[in-house]
Amino acid sequence: MISSYDLDLNIDFERGFIQGTVAVHATNIGEHLDLDAKELAITGVTADGKPVKFRHENDIIRISQIPESEEIVIVLRYEKKIPDDVTTGVYKSRYGKEYFIATDFEPDRARTFFPCKDDPSWKAVFNIRVVTEAGLTVISNSPLSRIEDTDDPGRKRHVFEPTPKMSTYLVFVGVGRFSEVSRRLEGGPTVTVASRAEGSQRADFILGIACNALKESGQYFGTPYPLEKLHMIALPEYGGAMENWGAITSYEAAMLVGKEAGAFDRRTAAITMVHEIQHQWFGDLVTMKWWDDIWLNESFATFMSYKITDRLRPEWDCWSDFLSNLGFDSMAVDQLHATHPIQARIGNPAEINEVFDRISYGKGASVIRMMESFLGEDIFARGISNYIRKFSYLNARSEDLWKSLEESSDQPVSKIMGAWITKSGFPLVTVGRKGSKLLFTQKRFLLTGKEEESGSPWPIPVNVQINGELSKFLLDTPSKEIGIKGDVLRQVKANLGQGGYYCVKYDEDMYDALASSFHSLGGLDKAGIVNDLFQLMKAEEVDPSVYFRFVGLCGEVDDYATALLASTQLQLLWGIAETSKDVERACRSFLESQLARLTLTPRATDRENDGYLRGRFASMFSRLDDDFAKKLAPQFDGFRALDSNMKPAVAVAYARTVGEKAFDEVERILVKTEDETERWKLYAGLVAFDEPGLVERALDFVASGRVSRSDSYWPLLFGAWNPRARRAEWEWIKRNYDRIGELLGSRLYVLMLLQRVVPTVAVENEKDATDFLSADRSSRGRMGHGQTLELLSVHARLRRRLRPV
Ligand SMILES: [Zn+2]
Repeated sequence: MISSYDLDLNIDFERGFIQGTVAVHATNIGEHLDLDAKELAITGVTADGKPVKFRHENDIIRISQIPESEEIVIVLRYEKKIPDDVTTGVYKSRYGKEYFIATDFEPDRARTFFPCKDDPSWKAVFNIRVVTEAGLTVISNSPLSRIEDTDDPGRKRHVFEPTPKMSTYLVFVGVGRFSEVSRRLEGGPTVTVASRAEGSQRADFILGIACNALKESGQYFGTPYPLEKLHMIALPEYGGAMENWGAITSYEAAMLVGKEAGAFDRRTAAITMVHEIQHQWFGDLVTMKWWDDIWLNESFATFMSYKITDRLRPEWDCWSDFLSNLGFDSMAVDQLHATHPIQARIGNPAEINEVFDRISYGKGASVIRMMESFLGEDIFARGISNYIRKFSYLNARSEDLWKSLEESSDQPVSKIMGAWITKSGFPLVTVGRKGSKLLFTQKRFLLTGKEEESGSPWPIPVNVQINGELSKFLLDTPSKEIGIKGDVLRQVKANLGQGGYYCVKYDEDMYDALASSFHSLGGLDKAGIVNDLFQLMKAEEVDPSVYFRFVGLCGEVDDYATALLASTQLQLLWGIAETSKDVERACRSFLESQLARLTLTPRATDRENDGYLRGRFASMFSRLDDDFAKKLAPQFDGFRALDSNMKPAVAVAYARTVGEKAFDEVERILVKTEDETERWKLYAGLVAFDEPGLVERALDFVASGRVSRSDSYWPLLFGAWNPRARRAEWEWIKRNYDRIGELLGSRLYVLMLLQRVVPTVAVENEKDATDFLSADRSSRGRMGHGQTLELLSVHARLRRRLRPV
């Protein structure tokens, strides 16, 4: 067992070089000890002060002939050059001519920073000391205890308080010219946003969210935030966000939110940070035993981030976002043969990249939400807080959580959750008539082909409204009959409130009833019907006319959930079949009525999300309608001062109307823009040109890394919404395939990006894409490109069915 590590790091910031000494305090280890160490040059090992034998092979240091002793201190000396070309492990996050040195270890990169037992269940205390150039700020998990002089007057030693017992993947060290803004939470920790100097003026919003979220989460978990401080470190070059205990890191836009930011920017930042804050308990205080429960770690934090944010800011209507971005979004891949169960067996941490996808986040979070709506909010919360208390500073497995929920609810949680996390896919529930009763049947919902084997049914908690009355039952058999009060059926809506992770298909006359009462339904229910029909159309379970009938009703809706969902679907349809009459008619009718409802300028009566929807619809309409783009384009002259929500729309309109000259202007502003979210808005324009050559130039510009390497995801994604440059983007992706990998840094991001982009941009080049991606030997395993290619074939089939002219 290892009880603690004393980590002494001598960091030459200017040269990017580390000399490290780690003292491993161990008990009862016997005469051998294997430690993980990768990309480190080990220069010496001692045990209780005496040199011992060691062998460093295959990223493991085997230390042998350790003298017999109950307690022993093994000291390893090593050196490490900080690489220039990565954004994981220990790396440089660049801005202008400067950089921060920062770390990012999940799942298995701590071993590239110091020799250790790099396994989440080997929790230990970390005593961290860093010597570096005077004048630099050093941040770690624990509060800074003191700064000491060293023999060299130009170098200072930063000594940190011991951490609590924690896993290696959560260790953090950051060095650089950080500027810090702090706020103290009453009776709680000090919260500090650390960023480059310009960021400090934009830290206020997230400080407020973080303080309130810490308080609210502490109450929910029944355990206050366990540390004395929380750093939130905004990194200029960094793709994601990471929950290092007491030292959360993220891309800048998730922390630095200016006053001019739109509702979407604020909400996205808040949800991202609240997610990392949930991990401070669920993940950091209580940690999974092994990586096969990573899905629970992520799904739970995701579910909770919406729950807590919704409590802090109910006007944001977070659950509508949840449904669109997670629930419906993961269904789109969970309907494929190439999907996988939520829970995965993980032998080697490197395999996590193969399962850490839309399923682990989106479906996992949706299934947890379904469980909560089945058990009831209070009972669910009680089970969670008991679990957190019981396993604080320890490791647990998903079964431990189910047990806690069973104890608080008296329901068969293990059985229900067991089925949902080990079965692939999700069910389609069909509601039909049987005599005077309703007949509910279930089968696996697949977009293509038939299910190979029947398999056992899902235990589905069904909430259904029949003639205005709510019934609840567990559909755990292939079919079930439900009586109708009064025998005459007027209307039925299953999955009321969309708490369940399944799709519903109705009889024809039931659709008639739903269409005529559509506008009296709740927003989530309307969105649910439209989502299910979209999926059913893709699966060729219903005729496109049924879908177009309902999406046609969405022009009139004024709720966020339905408007958001309908626009997402129409954008995709336009991206793959822009010349289909049905698609064009549906897009025009939806966008024209929504823009008439919202008008083009902010109104005093705007609700929280109206501005965002206005900008989103204007952006779509600018791509579709030349006259509208012409009208909007002149606003680009005052781009800086524009309402933030409208910026992407204006950039798109400007690019499409002005053409090549607009390219230089957008590029000129981009290079000077430090605010990451502002840049994303400009990229929307940079890849919106009608001329494929300009879109290629835009992608070349992004790939040059001139602005920021971590920017590259967005232009590639936005480019997929421009069918005029579809082929050009696909050819570009093929030419720059390796470069995309370098820019995005992780295989996971590459897979995620391609999954979102290729099924659209290669919709007319299905065979070419299949040949190209199948030849990528580096992507094996059950995820790989299988989902991308299957989704591509579904899109190509749908495109043919929509009869583009
Ligand atoms: Zn997370």
